[in-house]
Amino acid sequence: MTLTLYNTLSGALEEFAPLEAGRVRLYTCGPTVWNYAHVGNFRGNLFYDLLKRHLRVSGYQVTHVMNITDIDDRILHEAAHARQTIREYSATYERAFFEDLETLRFMPADIYPRATEHIGDIIELVGGLLADGHAYEVDGDVYFRVDSFPAYGALSKLDRAGLRAGARVATDKYEKESASDFALWKRAGEGDDLLGAAWPSPWGAGRPGWHIECSAMAMRYLGQTLDVHCGGVDLKFPHHENEIAQSEAFTGLPFARFWLHNEMLADLSGEKMSKSTGNIATLRDLLAAGHDPVAIRYFLVAGAHYRSPLRFDDDALHSAAEQVRRLRELHARLQETPREVADEGLRGEAESARARYRASLDNDLNLPQGMGHVFDVVRTANAALDRGRVGEGSQLALLRLLDEADAHLDVLRADDEGLEPRLQAMIDARERARAQRDFATADRLRESLREHGVLLEDSKSGVRWRRS
Ligand code: AMP
Ligand code: ZN
Repeated sequence: MTLTLYNTLSGALEEFAPLEAGRVRLYTCGPTVWNYAHVGNFRGNLFYDLLKRHLRVSGYQVTHVMNITDIDDRILHEAAHARQTIREYSATYERAFFEDLETLRFMPADIYPRATEHIGDIIELVGGLLADGHAYEVDGDVYFRVDSFPAYGALSKLDRAGLRAGARVATDKYEKESASDFALWKRAGEGDDLLGAAWPSPWGAGRPGWHIECSAMAMRYLGQTLDVHCGGVDLKFPHHENEIAQSEAFTGLPFARFWLHNEMLADLSGEKMSKSTGNIATLRDLLAAGHDPVAIRYFLVAGAHYRSPLRFDDDALHSAAEQVRRLRELHARLQETPREVADEGLRGEAESARARYRASLDNDLNLPQGMGHVFDVVRTANAALDRGRVGEGSQLALLRLLDEADAHLDVLRADDEGLEPRLQAMIDARERARAQRDFATADRLRESLREHGVLLEDSKSGVRWRRS
């Protein structure tokens, strides 16, 4: 079976294969930690989660990097108001973001680099672009010269002539050569150093622009060419277009082979959920209103195909909760069925649904279609169970079908006393470290797990954990 993904760059469905056999380098644009994230933001994150889970189901090892934007104008502004440094200010929202990801059962990234911890990498990139004439400095600000990169606009398919028109545009603050040129480095404003938001550079004290941080952190951890770069459709232009221009002007190599973009979560009127319009709900709001995090997860990930808009409303959340309930109910019934019955009528149906489910996911991650196949069988299975007509073969095939879907949904066992994904990932990392005889790392992870209340016991059959 081959995995096909819609690549925004080519505007077509393409067969996916990573550059290095068996390993996918994935970069996803992360949050700006200036406020609580809203469920629209989490639609994006859960799309990343779905992609990653399916890559793993498809047999790939995934190295996933997601940045934390901990410096930008809004953070600066709010920190100044709160009389805090930007680090103090953003720490609250960064912590909240990770808590929310855990609540939504997001499979953790391998690395979460912060922009403020990669200023050296950013300065190196900007320096290289200046040296090659792809950038220029005006009074301590540095801009990317869009005219120096002929492929500009290839991702968003925007009209280049239009983008580059407008020659010299003067504003009260600075003078750019062209309207579409964008900031790589911004001169420090008065008091920025007191907020911990100014760094020395060859062009004077300042801070990085938003776009350059993603290029710097992606290439730092994943190399000069990524397999997959994801983000919301709202980031295609200018953010991703700018990332491509900076990175490719610097390296001369393709920056990302596949670009995947998720559609937005909208409110009932169809307008994008966004902090600036104020039509938002945070995860915390929904939990306070009594919604089950697992239903929220299901709604966000399976409520619509990732490239279709999804409308947020209570009915949709309730219907997601109902679907989760039905999956769990069947799962529980299948554990209980007596195994003496020798009726295998459902086995073939369950197996063919599993194949169709898999094919839907392989077809650009069409989870809603896949769930349609699953629910066809849920109905028949319940009816057969009511009549006591499910034999062991059917039972196993049905459980395999539910497990296949749960590899993406991760809702069936959410209430078991299972380990949070983040902690399980630490156990896995420790196992890898031990296998590589890196006992220092293994011990550090064990210690860190202990601090999280998880004790490990190494046994012949593998590592076991228990809560302290
Ligand atoms: P921001 O924190 O505003 O920079 O956005 C972070 C991420 O959330 C970006 O990847 C956006 O594409 C995504 N995002 C923002 N609003 C929505 C929305 N209403 N639906 C889906 N994704 C969104
Ligand atoms: Zn980005």
